[in-house]
Amino acid sequence: MKEITGGHNKKHGGAPPPCAACKLLRRRCAKDCVFAPYFPADEPHKFASVHKVFGASNVNKMLQDLAEDQRGDAVSSMVYEANARVRDPVYGCVGAISSLKQQIDLLHTQLALAQAEVVQMRMMMHQYSNNSFTITTSPDNNYNNSNDSPSSSRHTHSHNSRMSIFSMEDTFWSS
Ligand SMILES: [Zn+2]
Repeated sequence: MKEITGGHNKKHGGAPPPCAACKLLRRRCAKDCVFAPYFPADEPHKFASVHKVFGASNVNKMLQDLAEDQRGDAVSSMVYEANARVRDPVYGCVGAISSLKQQIDLLHTQLALAQAEVVQMRMMMHQYSNNSFTITTSPDNNYNNSNDSPSSSRHTHSHNSRMSIFSMEDTFWSS
């Protein structure tokens, strides 16, 4: 602030230039002007839209009611709200909020559908591996004709079917 004032001193012969607010309101910019830190002379559009929507005296009052470390954020949000109101006189920033809310709802729906699809695919995968288990342990299988005892044969097959689930999951997740 002091730097800006110093930089402009040459042009204005020692008097600091008025801030964007005081320039628009055609008044003298006092040393302790509440607008000056937030509405610099090189950004006149910021105060113009805020003044149009809220009115200079209301902005002044709102800033006076706040602690100094909160005023910067308050000005940013007021400028955002004012610009939104100028763009959309009916809904203002509520238009932006409701459009974002709709996007969130849509994305939640898409996420739920995708999650349901994953569950369905996992169930299909397990069903497939269970079916291959049934086939390999069927009485027609070659293994049953061998001399292995039924218990050891069953153990081998259950191990194989578990292996096939892992290999299928690998294929599924890497694709
Ligand atoms: Zn001023």
